[in-house]
Amino acid sequence: MAQLLLNITGLSKQFDTAKGRVKALHQVELRIKEGEFITVIGPSGCGKSTLLRIIAGLDVQYSGHVRLGDQEIEGPGIDKGFIFQEHRLFPWLTVEKNIAADLSLRDPEVRRRVNELIELVKLEGFAKAYPKELSGGMAQRVAIARALLRNPRVLLLDEPFGALDAFTRAHMQDVLLDIWRTNKTTMIFVTHDIDEAVFLANRVVILKPRPGEIKHIVPVDLPYPRKKTTTSFQELRLRVLKLLDSMDELELTDGAGI
Ligand code: ADP
Ligand code: MG
Repeated sequence: MAQLLLNITGLSKQFDTAKGRVKALHQVELRIKEGEFITVIGPSGCGKSTLLRIIAGLDVQYSGHVRLGDQEIEGPGIDKGFIFQEHRLFPWLTVEKNIAADLSLRDPEVRRRVNELIELVKLEGFAKAYPKELSGGMAQRVAIARALLRNPRVLLLDEPFGALDAFTRAHMQDVLLDIWRTNKTTMIFVTHDIDEAVFLANRVVILKPRPGEIKHIVPVDLPYPRKKTTTSFQELRLRVLKLLDSMDELELTDGAGI
């Protein structure tokens, strides 16, 4: 039985803005086991990024409890890796230097680890290349390698493939699943692509907006590798789509704005 890694209880978060108070998250309860792949899906503004930032320790102004292992999250740290939609690489550094970040490649242990990561994200031959020489998918693979350098306990991904074309995106999903199989890193992946959510996850967390709440958690009991064309995949996809659709009606009656 896998260990509980992340335990979120009674998590609420509000922003006070000039336009008033925004309830970004309301009484979120979520328990994630070590090695799980969780996707989080929901309409824009439902609190996906806020949830991820809190788990990352980038935002500590909330009520409730967020525990990683047996420790309350108190700030960012090497135990939590974060991937944004844009790669955020340093343009003046090569691939290997971007991955090594503040560590020296002259250290044989760092060198070994960086080489291992380059292989893991399938960028052999590109160690000395600069970000501008890479495609969007390749640059995002460098960002993933960099985030994995110090073996985080959890990798948090905020719509990491949102800016990529459909073919690159599908390829990146396969690469990420390979990484997950090899490294067994717990993944929490935010997307608003239903296919992507179902294709990747052990469980799909569906959030609803205003206030941001968990509406459903859908287990995806399909073996890996998955195929998007199978009937069982399409059935699950439709189930998630229907759950999201029922929220559209809710949004229409709810009015727009934050
Ligand atoms: P998502 O990632 O699902 O699109 P967010 O987590 O970014 O949603 O935002 C959730 C809600 O909180 C939205 O209504 C958004 O406008 C609001 N919000 C997010 N960040 C801030 C902030 N820094 N200041 C004020 N409001 C914010
Ligand atoms: Mg967001």
